[in-house]
Amino acid sequence: MTKLYRTHKIRLYPTYEQEIYFKKACGIKRFTYNWALNEWNKEYEKYIKNKKSCKAPNHRILRDRFTKLKNNKEELSFINEVSKYAFSNAFEDLGNSFKRLFNKQGKYPKFKSKKRSKDSFREDAATKFSIKVKDYSLFIPKWQKKPIKLAERLRYPNGRIKSCTISRTADIWFTSILVELDKQPKDELKRYKKTKDKIGIDLGIKTYATLSNGKKIKIKNKMKLRLKRLDRKVNVLQEVLSKKSKISNNREKVKTKLSRCYYKIKCIKEDFLHKKSQHLVRKYNSICMEDLTLKNMMKNHKLAKSLQESMFRTFIDYVDYKSKRKHNVILILADSKYPSTQLCSGCGNRKIGKDKMKLKDREYICTKCGLIIDRDLNASINLEKLI
Ligand SMILES: [Zn+2]
Repeated sequence: MTKLYRTHKIRLYPTYEQEIYFKKACGIKRFTYNWALNEWNKEYEKYIKNKKSCKAPNHRILRDRFTKLKNNKEELSFINEVSKYAFSNAFEDLGNSFKRLFNKQGKYPKFKSKKRSKDSFREDAATKFSIKVKDYSLFIPKWQKKPIKLAERLRYPNGRIKSCTISRTADIWFTSILVELDKQPKDELKRYKKTKDKIGIDLGIKTYATLSNGKKIKIKNKMKLRLKRLDRKVNVLQEVLSKKSKISNNREKVKTKLSRCYYKIKCIKEDFLHKKSQHLVRKYNSICMEDLTLKNMMKNHKLAKSLQESMFRTFIDYVDYKSKRKHNVILILADSKYPSTQLCSGCGNRKIGKDKMKLKDREYICTKCGLIIDRDLNASINLEKLI
């Protein structure tokens, strides 16, 4: 039987001691990762020079060597102050990074720095009892007696917890709990009722999304205003930051404020995208959208900023994964070469050459059949035709 996996990211409210523990575990993970990468580089150099007598580096062998080292050296005893997963997962991560590199999916791993790298560490569930969630409490190794407070309950109470990653964004701590399920949760199935409706969706700059049934998805002025305010705050903080000396305490404070702003912006956008994509997948059974790759969008520099801000790519990804969770929902991503803007949704005539629709043209006027229609609506109807 295939197993299903779901993650639930929940905000944490750690005590002062727990926060110190988290910071320590993140530091140890970083330290171990850098040690492992350094050893890997050295061994790889030797291996390249002499392939016959040297072995290629391996993250498991490095982990075993590190374990011995830390048990024998007094100055490394601090590593035992946190759960063993904090350091052992560093080797796991490094192994995966190299795997991605060899599969040409990733870049050469870099050393982690306190300033640049995101603080995080992962606890794996070695047994059924090592990680537990009860109501609003999270129990992890070393914190079995004093659980960590959660902002909400775990969405999958019947699932088996496989791991939990604890990470920091700005000065807020989160946990991502990975759960294994035997079957799709009932409420998830209920949420996605079967329908027969199909819809074409055109994503645009003026209107966020235009649906082929004439409905529009707009970004509300209130949301725009909130984003604008945060944007202004980011600019001010960046200005302040550029004037602060490199190693002042205040600089760190400004940086935390800045990352809080970025986090808020991200939350506002993601909330919007989740709600809208959820609605679409719930309501329609076949969806067709244009496959907007970042590369295509960036060709037009004027558009780049606003397009990036409207996060089309994330929106498409959300619709994609949500439609996979609902049975029988088909998401068709139209090739970006498909001329949805240039075709007449009435007669199929295609505008070419100097007749082509330009960005400023808001209305599609067909010279063949005389149809006059809103540009975005025309495109969305053309997209629906691909279903
Ligand atoms: Zn026409």
